[in-house]
Amino acid sequence: MSTTATVDQGGEYSTSGPGSNNNSNNPLRVFVSAKKDINDLFIKVETFVKNVHEFYRSYGDDAGSIVSGGKLQQLESAVEKVAGIRDVLSRNHMKVAFFGRTSNGKSTVINAILQNKILPAGIGHTTNCFLQVEGTDEEEPFIEVGGHRQAIDSVKNLANALNNESMSSDTLVKIFWPKSKCSILHDDVVLVDSPGTDVSANLDSCIDLYCLDADVFVLVSNSESTLMQTEKNFFLKVKEKLSKPNIFILNNRWDASALETDSMELVRKQHMTRDTDFLVDELAVVEKEAAEDRVFFVSARETLFRRTAPLENGASLPNLASLAQGHETRYSEFEDFEHAFEQCLSQSAVKTKFSAHTAEVSRLTTGLAALLEEVAAGTARLRAEKLATIRAHRETVAHIQKAFQLLHQEVKQEIVNLMKAVEHKVCTALNEEIRRLAVLVADFEQPFAGDAQPLALAAYKKELHGHVEARFIANLEQRFASAVSCNVGATQAKMLEGARRLLPPGTLERYSLLGYSIAPREDFKVHIHLNCESLCSDFVEDLQFRFSYGLVQLLQYLTGGKVGENGGNRSLMDKSFTEGKGVQLPSNSSINDSGNGSGSSGGGNRSGNGKAMVVQFAASNLDLIDKLSSSRTTITLLAVGGCLVRVIGWHVIAITSTIYGLLYVYERLSWTTRAKETAFKRQYVAHATKKLRLIVDYTSDNCSDQVKNELTSSFVRLNRLVDNVIEGLRKEVVVLEKEVAFLDEQEKTVALLRGQVKALTGELQAFTGKYLL
Ligand code: GDP
Repeated sequence: MSTTATVDQGGEYSTSGPGSNNNSNNPLRVFVSAKKDINDLFIKVETFVKNVHEFYRSYGDDAGSIVSGGKLQQLESAVEKVAGIRDVLSRNHMKVAFFGRTSNGKSTVINAILQNKILPAGIGHTTNCFLQVEGTDEEEPFIEVGGHRQAIDSVKNLANALNNESMSSDTLVKIFWPKSKCSILHDDVVLVDSPGTDVSANLDSCIDLYCLDADVFVLVSNSESTLMQTEKNFFLKVKEKLSKPNIFILNNRWDASALETDSMELVRKQHMTRDTDFLVDELAVVEKEAAEDRVFFVSARETLFRRTAPLENGASLPNLASLAQGHETRYSEFEDFEHAFEQCLSQSAVKTKFSAHTAEVSRLTTGLAALLEEVAAGTARLRAEKLATIRAHRETVAHIQKAFQLLHQEVKQEIVNLMKAVEHKVCTALNEEIRRLAVLVADFEQPFAGDAQPLALAAYKKELHGHVEARFIANLEQRFASAVSCNVGATQAKMLEGARRLLPPGTLERYSLLGYSIAPREDFKVHIHLNCESLCSDFVEDLQFRFSYGLVQLLQYLTGGKVGENGGNRSLMDKSFTEGKGVQLPSNSSINDSGNGSGSSGGGNRSGNGKAMVVQFAASNLDLIDKLSSSRTTITLLAVGGCLVRVIGWHVIAITSTIYGLLYVYERLSWTTRAKETAFKRQYVAHATKKLRLIVDYTSDNCSDQVKNELTSSFVRLNRLVDNVIEGLRKEVVVLEKEVAFLDEQEKTVALLRGQVKALTGELQAFTGKYLL
């Protein structure tokens, strides 16, 4: 047999079997206590479910990777479900529904139980709708019909309100009575009075609407008549809806039996037999041996009187002299009825109201416990994954740094090598081009105005600077620019490849997509900076005529100086410019017809015109003539010399003087604009060569610097990219470390929650053991 928790007067719980008589205290407190316990428990459950929900949500995007999908929705519905159950639980109460024919005394019974004349009763009043009496924490009573509240200040007022003809038999009027004025209402009991089984046309719907949640049904019959079929029909319908309703039968108006003492026991027996038969055989809601405990013979009017009549002179009871004989027994039986239905009510209500919800929440907490297990395992797994990623990132950073250091050394060496190669290449090319400068100058074909027109000569010079500069640069660039660009490109590609090897796969592509410029520049070109105009700004041409065999020149020659070194424009000396150095004059000139600039000293320079032949002839006899030619001073000296060789004879002197004079005339006549141009170009070449040689080192350094800058900037870009990658990985590590720290906290929280769910499961089991088993 199961035991039931009860509360004694001191508020302490004790257990006793159902129907135990020693439980004379208020059994309704069991329900009140159970309701408080389960409400407290459900507050904890609701808080817990919300906490789990919040906790799960705190995983954010990781939630999906921690546990299988759909859990968030499950938790959300669990939160709603628990809130819903808590709401129902908080509104739960014990409900007693009273049925019976009109005027059997239902309202009087309810008033007697309430110990207050709350419901209108008596002749002239018929309850023609459903009345529900429940407690309110407010000080003043009020009614509620169809959700509309209406104040009542007296029973008469209530009677008037209830007499409203528009109220149909299936209307529910809720009467809220201050709990402070009525102890049973204080204990969460709701009493429902029905319009009477004989007047309620729509019994079915009324049972559905107002009675299905009743914990106890009381049939108030009139002991002056037998149980009517209409009354039986009602309970048969209730039986159809509820499998085993708790039904009590009150044979009211038993005070009437006091007048017929002889037949009273017989009548009682007949009523008892009919009633128990109805309960046991027709309704099958109670066992035969317990059936008599559900049937009572009472007088509601006497009980009401005893409980509500005014007391006189401080008496504890009103004057009961007016009551019929045996009223004490009837009152005692009414109390027995009250105790029995209260106990039954409390037991039934606790089970029906709380067991389903407790089971539901028990399933829920079991599910939550499983979820938390899963979350704990998922958290540990995710934490381990993140730690592994952190380790991998750190290793990658260390590897990148080390490998990049090596790449840096390699690239540095590569740059140095390339710079040396470029320097050498540029140096060689420059020297070669300088050697070929005469060809460039000879190719300049602007008309030469000579020194007679200084402005035109200045313009000519400017043009020549431009010509030499452009051709010189173009030739140099042609020689090495593309090769150098190729080398630079190859080195850059090597850098990129090195970076690709040391970075995680796809990094370069990803950064390239992000707009990082890491590819080598395709338009890189080594630039030669040359400004002939400023380089040769100090060039001053000397176009003065000087006789090649003047005394000064001869002395210079004899003392080892170079003939025509200063002037350099003598036509006989021009031969060395055009032939000796292998430099070609302009191809259409009378001197140079080969145009290849190779400068053969042979017949390659022969001109087709006579002037050229004269030059040729002069050139072929140069040694002899050169030694004999002189200026006017020289002539004087020769005259003096002639005196000295007078012994040789005048004819020798005359012939020599004539030849010398002819030579002078010839040279003077040959000093034409063309000869001047040739002399100008030769002087320019000599000057420019000297100047250009000065800048060979500078230019080759400059070119190798350009290469160095290009490669260095490429490497710097690459370095920046690698730094960015490392920075990115480090930032990821920081984020991951935070996530791991978060997961550490989550692990602590999940352990806490697992402890809480265990405690809640224990509390639920304790509640079940205390109230529901
Ligand atoms: P209801 O229609 O079933 O609610 O019946 P009421 O409570 O209104 O009672 C109808 C009449 O029966 C009233 O006049 C009551 O005073 C009277 N009455 C109720 N209970 C008893 C009782 O136990 N004995 C006697 N003699 N009259 C009662």
